[in-house]
Amino acid sequence: MATDHYEVLGLERNATPEEIKKAYRRLARELHPDVNPSADAAERFKLVTHAYDVLSDPHERQQYDLGPQPGFGGGANFGGFGDIFETFFGAAAGGRGQGPRSRKERGQDALVRVEVDLDEVIFGTKRDVEINTAVLCETCSGSCCAPGTSPVTCDICRGSGQIQRTVRSLLGNVMTSNPCGTCRGYGTVIPNPCPTCAGQGRVRATRTIPVDLPAGVDTGLRLQLPGQGEVGPAGGPNGDLFLEVKVRHHDIFSRNGDDLLATVEVQMADAILGTKTALKGLDGEVSLEIKPGIQSAEVITVKDRGVTRLRGAGRGDLKIGIQVVTPTKLSHKEQELINQFAKSHKGTAPKFAAFQQGLFAKLRDRFLGF
Ligand SMILES: [Zn+2]
Ligand SMILES: [Zn+2]
Repeated sequence: MATDHYEVLGLERNATPEEIKKAYRRLARELHPDVNPSADAAERFKLVTHAYDVLSDPHERQQYDLGPQPGFGGGANFGGFGDIFETFFGAAAGGRGQGPRSRKERGQDALVRVEVDLDEVIFGTKRDVEINTAVLCETCSGSCCAPGTSPVTCDICRGSGQIQRTVRSLLGNVMTSNPCGTCRGYGTVIPNPCPTCAGQGRVRATRTIPVDLPAGVDTGLRLQLPGQGEVGPAGGPNGDLFLEVKVRHHDIFSRNGDDLLATVEVQMADAILGTKTALKGLDGEVSLEIKPGIQSAEVITVKDRGVTRLRGAGRGDLKIGIQVVTPTKLSHKEQELINQFAKSHKGTAPKFAAFQQGLFAKLRDRFLGF
């Protein structure tokens, strides 16, 4: 693996700051752990970032260009440079750079969006989720080789996966080690690639996974299914599958945490006299008792009829906002009855109170506990 900061970024030593920035952005996009989960990429990302840190700072870049400072200036004739190389470049030259790398890498994670209805969220639900990812090639079982054949040792690097070369530097001659171009660092080549997967060890396929969506999930939640992502190159370990939940909008019921919210319209006479009723809820019948004299924007809480809590036991509540409905069309007889009622029941005259942004704002505030 290249350790020279310019080499790491694929640049000449006279690169402009703009070129350095561009090269870094390009490599960072390619190697960032979020997009490229392979261990090799993570290692390169570190090197690239470090190289950019040094070369993007004019002072540090100058220091770097001058090479390790005092005493070794005449390094061209200096003996024992291998030690010096080790001293200054340390472990970066060793470690992962040594020996062939494996064809097997971890597969990428996959993300699938799943839409569910609110009533499914109350108790949880099952889904068959269809995903299209890389899966293990059945012809070669991930070996990448045509049946009956196997990889052979690379002639160029003799199986080491690395090509050593000596370069002159201010320190003198320095050995560098780069991945072998013939075998791309694997140490072996595959003379007869598997025809099914073209030597990749994996093919794309659509599969269906039965998934248990637990009760209480909400929009934006991501469920992780370990090992259900794509298979890695050459049959490397699978990535994970993430299911991102979206709960569909419901015309009547809404949700606040584990509580369900809805409004019930109550006729004026029922509001005055009180009544008992049964309503069709999301999860069956809801018995509701309207106490005499109930007011608009009062909230009735029906315990344990909300959403089952995602982690932990029990359910939220169903909160019902009351909206008293005033009749608008009265028969002649009804009109008379109301007139009689008005004469006998002298309430207070209309008077000012603080402005309320409509019933729903009032309801919402009560639902949310303001
Ligand atoms: Zn294959
Ligand atoms: Zn090789």
